[in-house]
Amino acid sequence: MAYSTDVYAAAKRVLEERRTSAERLASLKKADVYAKIPEIAKIDSALSRNMAQLSVLVLRGQKNLESVLDEMNAQNDANKRRKAELLSENGYPVDYLEPQYTCSNCCDTGRKSGILCSCYKEVCRAEAQKELAKSSGSASCSFDNFNLSYYVDNGAEDGTNPRRKMNNYYNFCVNYAKDFSLASPSIIMMGKTGLGKTHLSLSVAKTVISNEKANFGVVYAPAQKLVSNLEREHFSGSGSDALLRKYTDCDLLIIDDLGAEFPSSFTTSAIGNLINERLYENRPTIISTNLTGKELADRYTERTASRILGEYRKLYFVGEDIRFLKNR
Ligand SMILES: [Zn+2]
Repeated sequence: MAYSTDVYAAAKRVLEERRTSAERLASLKKADVYAKIPEIAKIDSALSRNMAQLSVLVLRGQKNLESVLDEMNAQNDANKRRKAELLSENGYPVDYLEPQYTCSNCCDTGRKSGILCSCYKEVCRAEAQKELAKSSGSASCSFDNFNLSYYVDNGAEDGTNPRRKMNNYYNFCVNYAKDFSLASPSIIMMGKTGLGKTHLSLSVAKTVISNEKANFGVVYAPAQKLVSNLEREHFSGSGSDALLRKYTDCDLLIIDDLGAEFPSSFTTSAIGNLINERLYENRPTIISTNLTGKELADRYTERTASRILGEYRKLYFVGEDIRFLKNR
């Protein structure tokens, strides 16, 4: 579970909202019931008085604490029984005054006995999916709507059949996403514009992010955005490295359209460092690019290009520009 700080913060807000709204509703119901059945108000204040007294006695190291406790517990039990009777007699369920939390296991705190609750992981997944949809701007891309009929079913310039080749890549990506782990290889998707590289990489991202067992943190970033974010952070003088950490620490990073960003010495070293660090830490990365191997070396140094081409799984996309075919 390596989500960005934004995802954790959003998940925390969701749980806080759930908790406060459950508690607000409970206190409204309480005010209403107290007005109708004043005896319940008296019982509740006796119960809280006992609780407060109990902590004082424990702190004070009261003698005969055990027998005092027994007496107080008996009083509390009698009070709770009477309260339940009163609620029932007046047509309310016995737990009517308790806050109705979305998750009864952790009372919407996200933790129980120091262990993360499944509801918290679920909220993190939902927030991560929202962040992915926002950063990619293509909420509709998925494996289900990847259309292989856009690829011609006969020979291509390099002697291969584009549809067969893309079908193999499609199946590879489906299995990659399904079985994704930190031991999965990194991938580079190469080929001209409009051959479905972004569509397939986003489909992988969506599947990986929805894995209920593992809660993987996936970050999708167009290269241009990634570099400008890192540049802004680096030269801001704030000393913060939150954005850099977001890109280096996530379980799966997708850099879309590498090479579309403005070339500069900062870009060369930022991309090189990011790729190195993620390989070193065994965190998979998926890069899509229109650049050839030689262009990668010219732009990001021979060393970075050879690390990518040597250690990433290479997928060479073929066919005609799908965006053009769709509009024809
Ligand atoms: Zn919970």
